[in-house]
Amino acid sequence: MSNYLSPRFSSLEAYTPGEQPRDRRYIKLNTNESPYPPSEGVLDALSREEVASLNLYPDPTCKALREALAGYFGVSAENVTVTNGSDEALSFAFMAYCDSSVGCAFPDISYGFYPVFAQLYSLDALAVPLKDDLTIDPADYFGLGRTLFIANPNAPTGIALSLDQIESILQNNPDNVVVIDEAYVDFGADSAVSLVGKYPNLLVIGTYSKSRSMAGARLGFAVGCPSLIEDLEKIRYSTNPYNINRLTLIAGTQAIADSSYYEENCRRIAETRDAFAARISAMGFEVTESKTNFVFARYPGMDGEEIFNELRDRGILVRRFSTERIRDYLRITVGTPEDMNTLAEALRDIIKEN
Ligand SMILES: *Cc1c(COP(=O)(O)O)cnc(C)c1O
Repeated sequence: MSNYLSPRFSSLEAYTPGEQPRDRRYIKLNTNESPYPPSEGVLDALSREEVASLNLYPDPTCKALREALAGYFGVSAENVTVTNGSDEALSFAFMAYCDSSVGCAFPDISYGFYPVFAQLYSLDALAVPLKDDLTIDPADYFGLGRTLFIANPNAPTGIALSLDQIESILQNNPDNVVVIDEAYVDFGADSAVSLVGKYPNLLVIGTYSKSRSMAGARLGFAVGCPSLIEDLEKIRYSTNPYNINRLTLIAGTQAIADSSYYEENCRRIAETRDAFAARISAMGFEVTESKTNFVFARYPGMDGEEIFNELRDRGILVRRFSTERIRDYLRITVGTPEDMNTLAEALRDIIKEN
């Protein structure tokens, strides 16, 4: 840190992304990427000609992409804005809907970026504890008088709320924005986009990073009533109007045309997830009911860090967190059936040696 850094950032603890190691080949199940590549349509759309146009700025209105997303969700383009990863949409929402008089609230165990944004923007943040079974009780969020950030399904637990539960949170917070972060919704939960026409306080955020195999392209989106989208556009044009690069605009638009390919991948991943979860449950692991592309599990009586290190030594990377309540859990991205088989065999050996 230099002597010049503004004191308001001196104690800021930045987000720590999952490792992207270069030292050896790992079976990489630590950052919830898709094990499958983008669609053929996307590969073809990123042509030499398109690369040759990189001397030109991209369309700042992102018209084609917003219209494609609007068509996919059955809303209009005024209901949609696009961002550089959904992390940027979250950043914009924290900026737009929280300040010194309106704080924010989110579950105590959720996406690790929420508290970082709260700190970055000097917000009063309330961490609402999950219940003992790691589920969210919607009633805990009624009438808090804060902007709410809820990942559905939640991460890293993988557990989803029903649309009725989301609706109860919206109805009991009419004066505050409720942000539903749907990074994992395509793997088995119900999207709140269907409620956007009914609730002017609902902002749904999504990403291409997980179900659309495009973490490297950095593309996210937000869906909400036109006035909320206008707010986010104001922030977008005030920070980086060219936030989506030309190649990502093309890839993102084409991916919507290829939706059936991605839906089939999600179905395969959900099937692999459920088979893997059943297999390690039979080995004695405790597994939450995941509706995502990861499995959240612990082995009773065994230290999570130890299993993590043993896996790492065997060339398998998963993720763990040091938060007390979940310190023994592993968050395991669902890879190919072959990868999950290798992992299950490694876990069997590790618990046997213990
Ligand atoms: C992965 C993830 C995101 C953001 O991903 P981007 O790559 O920035 O789109 C947002 N929220 C949750 C809960 C996530 O797991």
